[in-house]
Amino acid sequence: MGPVFNPATGEQIATVDLASKAEVDAVVAVAAAAAKQWRAASLSKRSAVLFKFRELLAAHSGELARIVTTEHGKVLADAAGEIARGLENVEFATGIPNLMKGSFSEQAATGVDVYSIRQPLGVVAGITPFNFPAMVPLWMCATAIAAGNAFVLKPSEKDPSASLFLARLWKEAGLPDGVFNVVHGDKEAVDAILLNPEIAAVSFVGSTPIAKYIYETGTAQGKRVQALGGAKNHMIVLPDAELDAAADAAISAGYGAAGERCMAISVVVAVGDIADPLVDAIAARIPKIKIGDGADPASEMGPLISAQHRDKVAGYVAAGASEGATVVADGRETTDISDKGFFLGATLLDNVTPEMTVYTDEIFGPVLSVVRVGTYAEAVQLVNDNEYGNGTAIFTRDGGAARQFQFDVNAGMVGVNVPIPVPVAYYSFGGWKASLFGDTHMYGPDGIHFFTRSKVVTSRWPDPGTSSIDLGFPQTR
Ligand code: NAD
Repeated sequence: MGPVFNPATGEQIATVDLASKAEVDAVVAVAAAAAKQWRAASLSKRSAVLFKFRELLAAHSGELARIVTTEHGKVLADAAGEIARGLENVEFATGIPNLMKGSFSEQAATGVDVYSIRQPLGVVAGITPFNFPAMVPLWMCATAIAAGNAFVLKPSEKDPSASLFLARLWKEAGLPDGVFNVVHGDKEAVDAILLNPEIAAVSFVGSTPIAKYIYETGTAQGKRVQALGGAKNHMIVLPDAELDAAADAAISAGYGAAGERCMAISVVVAVGDIADPLVDAIAARIPKIKIGDGADPASEMGPLISAQHRDKVAGYVAAGASEGATVVADGRETTDISDKGFFLGATLLDNVTPEMTVYTDEIFGPVLSVVRVGTYAEAVQLVNDNEYGNGTAIFTRDGGAARQFQFDVNAGMVGVNVPIPVPVAYYSFGGWKASLFGDTHMYGPDGIHFFTRSKVVTSRWPDPGTSSIDLGFPQTR
């Protein structure tokens, strides 16, 4: 049993059962039986279930957003936003008949045709983080199920209810029992998934040390694994950038969801003369951020996920100060926030350098660091030297500089005057370096690739009268 809290009040509101290995194995056996039936369902039948699920998800998004806010803490508008982005993944997957198309070559050799088909893997699993309890499961399950797999979801034990709500909607949409399964749990359940031979592929999103563990353990078991990890996203602001737009973007992307987004901006790289006015502009906006219970429509920023995490983030602010950063705004001293719940105000640290722990570590809280550099080249070097490579953004009015940045930078997702460049559903989401282990990104075309395998058929229908023996290697000419 694990506790589930409402981070806005600090109260425990539920408990979650944590599955044993035997329970996980029992769920996987159910999924394996269901997968055999589901892969035989026609593409149009699968597409029809996806369309129905899409309608139900849209109709119930308000209810789901309230569940997310209650257990995660993010404000309602933000919860609605993550559901809207998850919905896009479902919409993409409704096109499964088109996405599963193979290719056909007539007369590859005389009387021989060659064609490719894509087939589901069987049982696949998703292991997801606390920070997007609706969207990240949807990134995975929409594509996996549309492709004809059975899916076992192991959501974060910190906010487990959104996944159960999704399960109800799948059932109501007509998905056969056993195709979408939720198993709650912690490390024991995760290890059971990694070791179960019936599971062909594991899709993971979470922190980098766990992503690496999942990738290494899963691939050693012969599974396909895509494991997305943590991030330290830099926003470069060139001297010619529109100052107010850059400051607005830094506030939105740095403090939205209290910084608990893998695509949050945590480092602003101020190039040249823009540093002083930019820091002033960001600092001037911080006191206006409305911090409060995410269920209150007036709130713009909610609490952190747990008391321990809030204390850890506050510890980073203290470390930044003692390591020599200039504390422009100190979130520990924000006064007009509830002392119940896991709240922390917004922090702005200036003159941060790459050796400081506030720079090297993923903080995952409302702490924005400003690193000052002299040139564009130094800014790009900083991003490229960083351990992580999830998202990055450049703010400029110079199209040539932006194009050069897109060419130079080592990160999987790049924004040009867009601080959080999460790709639309018909592209794929994924970082580079320590932000992703594996070689496929998530959802979109890469998602279809990950959850299917291809088969190539070479076929001949010869006239029996022309049959002969030939021990040579088959040739096509
Ligand atoms: P986490 O790594 O602690 O947990 C993720 C999942 O792994 C959960 O389901 C959890 O139960 C499980 N888990 C935790 N410890 C484990 C262990 N020792 N062994 C096996 N399984 C374990 O991550 P979190 O705190 O839930 O989420 C925040 C992290 O996720 C941040 O680092 C954030 O950057 C990252 N994240 C990345 C992306 C991305 O797309 N790259 C998206 C969202 C979140």
